[in-house]
Amino acid sequence: MSNVETEPAQTRCGTTGDADGRPGPDERGAEVLTPRDVPLGGPRAMKVRRTLPQRARTLIGAWCFADHYGPDDVAGTGGMDVAPHPHIGLQTVSWLFSGEIEHRDSLGTHAYVRPGELNLMTGGHGISHSEVSTPETTVLHGVQLWVALPSEHRSADPDFQHFVPEPVHVEGAEIRVFLGSLGGSVSPVPTFTPLLGAELTLAPHATVTLPVDPAFEHGLLVDTGEAVLDHTTLNAAELGYTPPGTETLTLHNPAPTPTRTVLLGGPPFGEEIIMWWNFVGRSTEEIAQAREDWTAGRRFGEVKGYDGDPLPAPTLPNVALKPRKNSR
Ligand code: MN
Repeated sequence: MSNVETEPAQTRCGTTGDADGRPGPDERGAEVLTPRDVPLGGPRAMKVRRTLPQRARTLIGAWCFADHYGPDDVAGTGGMDVAPHPHIGLQTVSWLFSGEIEHRDSLGTHAYVRPGELNLMTGGHGISHSEVSTPETTVLHGVQLWVALPSEHRSADPDFQHFVPEPVHVEGAEIRVFLGSLGGSVSPVPTFTPLLGAELTLAPHATVTLPVDPAFEHGLLVDTGEAVLDHTTLNAAELGYTPPGTETLTLHNPAPTPTRTVLLGGPPFGEEIIMWWNFVGRSTEEIAQAREDWTAGRRFGEVKGYDGDPLPAPTLPNVALKPRKNSR
């Protein structure tokens, strides 16, 4: 997916500061990140709910972008049609609950993103891709996530991987681990920093306690239903954050219907990054060069088979980057 805000903010993303004596989850519960609506562009403009980055928090582990969309009646919105656009310095994680998206990229990959299947694209030095919901899709529903690459790997070769996790069951929950490990399930997909990414569905009224890596911070995005994380109730589309230092996460579904969530995690990223449009970099110059290369038709290859023109890059603001760090 492309960030199609017409004036995308330049975000310098800091690391989480726990050195100021921030209380742990048992003392104050999970931090609740509420989404903002962002139109994906086009006349009928399918909207996405963005919980990362935002003023209060810019990264959870290396997860630096979280868009949640649907269930979207494609007959009403026209679905997803994102023209070829470039990425650097990040990986994109596409995860669907329903519908189907046709992916084409400059490596020549032609793939279909389907529910319960991980599609992981590495931008690295530079890739371009298009994403279009298929004509068979009636309801589009899923998440689009980005992972920031650590500095030493941010110019990695572009890549595309597909993986279908086997669902595992623990008492009260079904889990599909697409990155990292949880509940005894381990994803074989390599990552550049330790990560957790899993779909987790809680049975009605279930309470589930899962061992987690105490070095990880976590984010629980509620898709449907509601969840209680560390005594804090999260409604649909909210992202609950818990800092590192806990060996278990306890999730509760207070409702008589299932609650579907996506659990993200990783150790605090430890580097400042700059996000602008579809790029993750370390300096204004690096971002400006990527923009110039895209505009000039260099570096990002060609997406074959997309019916239409590539997305033009927005204008880079002629101002110094303002550091934006997590507020606490
Ligand atoms: Mn994209």
